[in-house]
Amino acid sequence: MAVLGLTSPEAGDWARLRALQYSNMQPLRPVRMCGQFTGALFTAAVVFQALGLVVATAWMAAFCASLWYASNAAGQLSDTEVRRPTVAEVRSHSIAAGVLSAVWALAPLAVGWWGTPTQLMVVWAILAAMIAGSSLFLAALPLSTVTFAILTGTATVIAALVNGQFLFAASVVMLLLLVGFGSVDVARTFLTARIAEAGIAEKSEVVSLLLREFEEHQADWLWEIDTNRRVRKASPRFSFALGKAPDDVDGLPFLQLIAGDAWETGQFAPSLHDLAERLKRRENFSNLIVRVTIDGENRWWELSGTPILDETGSYLGFRGVGSDVTEQRESSEKIAYLARYDTLTGLPNRLMLNEALRDALKFAEQWRTKCAFLMLDLDRFKAVNDSLGHLVGDRLLAEVSSRLKELMDENAMCGRLGGDEFAVVVRDASEKGSVERLARRIIGRLSQPYDIDNHTLYVGASVGSAVGLRDGASVEELMRNADLALYRAKDEGGGEHFAYEPSFHAHAEERRKLEFSLRRAIERKELVLNYQPVVDANTEELVSFEALVRWNSSDHGFVSPGKFIPLAEDTRLIVPIGNWVLETACREAANWPSHVRVAVNVSGEQLVEPDFTSNVVRALSQSGLEANRLEIEVTESIFLRDADIARAALEQVIAIGCTVALDDFGTGYSSLGYLRKLSFSTIKVDRSFVQGAVQNSAESLAIIRAVVAMADSLDMSTTAEGVESAEEAALIRQLGCKKIQGYYFGRPMPVDEVRAIFRRNEAANA
Ligand code: C2E
Ligand code: MG
Ligand code: MG
Repeated sequence: MAVLGLTSPEAGDWARLRALQYSNMQPLRPVRMCGQFTGALFTAAVVFQALGLVVATAWMAAFCASLWYASNAAGQLSDTEVRRPTVAEVRSHSIAAGVLSAVWALAPLAVGWWGTPTQLMVVWAILAAMIAGSSLFLAALPLSTVTFAILTGTATVIAALVNGQFLFAASVVMLLLLVGFGSVDVARTFLTARIAEAGIAEKSEVVSLLLREFEEHQADWLWEIDTNRRVRKASPRFSFALGKAPDDVDGLPFLQLIAGDAWETGQFAPSLHDLAERLKRRENFSNLIVRVTIDGENRWWELSGTPILDETGSYLGFRGVGSDVTEQRESSEKIAYLARYDTLTGLPNRLMLNEALRDALKFAEQWRTKCAFLMLDLDRFKAVNDSLGHLVGDRLLAEVSSRLKELMDENAMCGRLGGDEFAVVVRDASEKGSVERLARRIIGRLSQPYDIDNHTLYVGASVGSAVGLRDGASVEELMRNADLALYRAKDEGGGEHFAYEPSFHAHAEERRKLEFSLRRAIERKELVLNYQPVVDANTEELVSFEALVRWNSSDHGFVSPGKFIPLAEDTRLIVPIGNWVLETACREAANWPSHVRVAVNVSGEQLVEPDFTSNVVRALSQSGLEANRLEIEVTESIFLRDADIARAALEQVIAIGCTVALDDFGTGYSSLGYLRKLSFSTIKVDRSFVQGAVQNSAESLAIIRAVVAMADSLDMSTTAEGVESAEEAALIRQLGCKKIQGYYFGRPMPVDEVRAIFRRNEAANA
């Protein structure tokens, strides 16, 4: 029924099949019309013989009308090749075919009734020819053939039975049955074939679409080689990847095209060798990274391939996809490099040092040896960086790292941790004293002068070391302990190597606890100020007091400023503490006799705070102290970092009327040049020179004399620090210092004692 077109099953695209059926009938339509017309003329002739001209003409007219109608209906279906016929169209075509068949059926009926048996057989002969023709021409569309055969056949059978031609009727029935089943079967075969054909066409269309898409939008290309591994059917993209035109590529050995010079020498890169092996073994491979040489340039390809086999399983070649992954590979190599190396010096970075140390620890554990981690820090690097700029600083670091590299061997690896911190991982440090020797060599080499940009730079190095697994079994522990040792080395003044000792831990722990307590010192009111008198060297009259902070911690007891001030500077706690000192000292000094001034120590950290000057102004205005009674004491170290900011801040406080003293002169980086950078009112000669002078050190005496001479010429005053006896006082006076500070004239004293002194003086004067 479905093949006939009488039903359309739910499953499957039957409308599409119908379209295939109808489209097939179109090309031969004129031939069929011709056949129909010729058959009709013959039949009309028989009708004319049997029934006369009128009936024959009438039948012929009816035939022509129904043929025209049927042909119109068929014409509407002429474009079903490209579209699907509607149900109405199929129905009207069937009705037209039915009407035409009915007109045909009239002929045997009429001739059988009124004509001779022979005439009926002639008509049937014509009809049988038409049925045969229809079943051949309209094989795809059996419904027309079947309708035609049944209507005309039945009419003929009826006519034959009426005439008593039984054998004839039986032969007609036999033909009808044959035609009926036969044409349905042929149509079924036709449809099956067309379905298969359409399926294949569709599939190949989809495949070519997909391939086009793939070729156009992907960086990938298809490649194919034959049994001799020669390129076959090279696509434009593939030949482009090979750097050649498709015609120049076809038929050439694949490996020759991608091996570059190696093709001649036979020295294939390992990845290429691997590819050749797989091709030889006819092995599937996917995402194989191969280093190829195209036009003399090295590139990376990612190839996948499958052997091509025919249906009998014999090998025809290889086929696959490939893409150029050079950029990805290079960028990922670059990323991997950046992740593990320091960009400035090219040395391994912290991550890689970590890994090396982890390996070294594993090695030491396995072979019961020792490994070592050395941490080094440049001394005075900051000074270079701040005074000569980052460019020079960077060049210095590069020079340091190349010197460091020279000292390394396969047992030792150096790297940069960041800033001016470097590290060395020693894989086997079992030999006694080897770490110490290496550390000394590093310090010695790094301390030699550097020539950079016409500057001769002197920087030293401090080293801290820890030995695994003795000082730590994990990377973190070993690093922390080496860091503690380094900290200790720096603490001792630099230029030294310190091996880790467990006591450093306690030291660091104490420092941590101290910092914790110091953070609370102000609010707990644990800080107090002591004041040390400064007297005129000649008259021994009181000139000023220096405010010196004291910390009586509830956790740690009395902590000396020498200990907690550096800690406060490191942690920037010096800023709030310094402000407190400034305010407290000013408030106290405001109550003193007006000729007594107060000196306050200020750290570099405070000077670089943007609101330093406004803090000074506030301390003065809140206390009511005149600006000229406040002296700010700074050390030379402020010129080592952010020198310009520090100088600008000091110029501002000088501008509001305060004076500035240079403290501890001669201890630090002493250069008389500092004295010309700012108009100091006083230079305080450090206690060490005073002590030196007393012990008759020529150097100390010379320095004091030079400082005094220069201060005089620059209109500055001088104060000698740490004068502990009358003898020292006399010497200092003789050397020309203007003022003296020291235990001989008074120790730093609590505020009550200061007030008592003033009360006594007042009473004495009264
Ligand atoms: P400095 O400013 O040079 O203070 C002088 C130091 O020498 C004081 O030590 C003082 O007690 C000590 N001294 C004075 N005369 C003699 C003497 O005749 N013999 C001996 N042996 N020592 C003498 P102190 O109070 O321990 O202060 C140490 C350092 O702490 C100070 O050195 C100063 O740099 C710093 N400091 C103290 N208070 C403050 C502060 O409020 N702020 C800042 N930023 N630093 C402070
Ligand atoms: Mg001082
Ligand atoms: Mg001092």
